[in-house]
Amino acid sequence: MIKTDILIIGAGPTGLFTVFEAGLLKLKCHLIDALPIPGGQCSEIYPKKPIYDIPGFPEVLAGDLVRNLMEQIKPFSPGFTLGERAETLEKLEDGKFLVTTSKGTQHQAPVVVIAGGLGSFEPRKPPIASIGKYEDKGVAYIIKEPEIYRNKRVVISGGGDSALDWAIYLAEIAKEVSLVHRRKDFRGALDSVEKVEELSKSGKINLITQAEVVDLKGENELEAVVIRHNGDTSVDGIKPTDFFIPLFGLSPKLGPIGDWGLEIEKNAIKVNNAYDYQTNIPGIYAIGDVNTYPGKLKLILCGFHEAAIMCQSAYQRIFPEKKYVMKYTTVSGISGFDGTRKEAKKEIIKSIN
Ligand SMILES: Cc1cc2nc3c(=O)[nH]c(=O)nc-3n(C[C@H](O)[C@H](O)[C@H](O)COP(=O)(O)OP(=O)(O)OC[C@H]3O[C@@H](n4cnc5c(N)ncnc54)[C@H](O)[C@@H]3O)c2cc1C
Repeated sequence: MIKTDILIIGAGPTGLFTVFEAGLLKLKCHLIDALPIPGGQCSEIYPKKPIYDIPGFPEVLAGDLVRNLMEQIKPFSPGFTLGERAETLEKLEDGKFLVTTSKGTQHQAPVVVIAGGLGSFEPRKPPIASIGKYEDKGVAYIIKEPEIYRNKRVVISGGGDSALDWAIYLAEIAKEVSLVHRRKDFRGALDSVEKVEELSKSGKINLITQAEVVDLKGENELEAVVIRHNGDTSVDGIKPTDFFIPLFGLSPKLGPIGDWGLEIEKNAIKVNNAYDYQTNIPGIYAIGDVNTYPGKLKLILCGFHEAAIMCQSAYQRIFPEKKYVMKYTTVSGISGFDGTRKEAKKEIIKSIN
């Protein structure tokens, strides 16, 4: 059981910055994210795109912003449960919340902050009726541990960067790699396309274009895929394989959070923006892209602002008897300091620990 002061669902920019704001108030945080890496949309959708509206940064790549946020929260040592989706929420007798993930990890906290953005990113699945039967029995939608494919036969399908990059990577370690794509041309980076074509010529990748995997075979686990070429309704090719990995991208869904009794409007969680971004359930807050209120803007800087306000309210909820006096994080107010930025940082951390 993981216990913390603030349990944050979603490790996007909003969730990450919440750790900083909570840390200034000496509140410990733990983050849950369905993705295997922190950063939310910035890491998953556009890590190489420049952002121009982060105050103080005329231009910053989304991936660099995430790296900076991780650096900024390091002193507060947040906990992470990554690659697991928050599934259920239960209110305990002592008023705390119990959140359990898709893998059964349990987390307990007096305050839950939903910073779930557009929702958890779910893999887009191909329309194969029997696919559910083979999930985790040969079918995977995300490659987490490439080593499990060593010396195995793998069929990847998809035409974007993910499919190309993994085909290239696995060609080195798998026994056999086939890449199935329904068009002739790929959408991925040109150099990856060229590399796949080279590996196809040298026999390291079995390239099957203008074709789709339309069915799966196997008694208890996956044994083969059925491949059909475009426009060819009569001839099916059956390809024996150990793994089938469709890499068609990820799409966000509010998912199980939608069943937690929260007031939802147009796939977003309604909050009280006049005060503290609390939801209709006291002790549960929603900040960043996941919430809605009159005038809401889905921007990173709005998520940061909401995190700061929300943490003040969470502090009062956790320590109703304590009076909090807000301090700036600059050196003014921290006695006896007149040194460098590095020393200033140390002083700040010392003063809040
Ligand atoms: C192409 C593009 C360009 C953009 N450009 C800009 C820009 O220039 N400036 C700007 O300010 N904004 C920009 N945005 C918007 C910006 O990315 C979002 O406002 C920001 O990412 C919201 O941050 P967040 O932390 O609230 O949510 P997200 O970044 O969406 O992160 C939410 C996280 O919560 C996780 N999650 C959700 N539900 C669960 C669950 N049940 N269990 C576990 N994890 C869960 C998700 O996996 C995700 O990682 C852009 C967006 C896109 C798509």
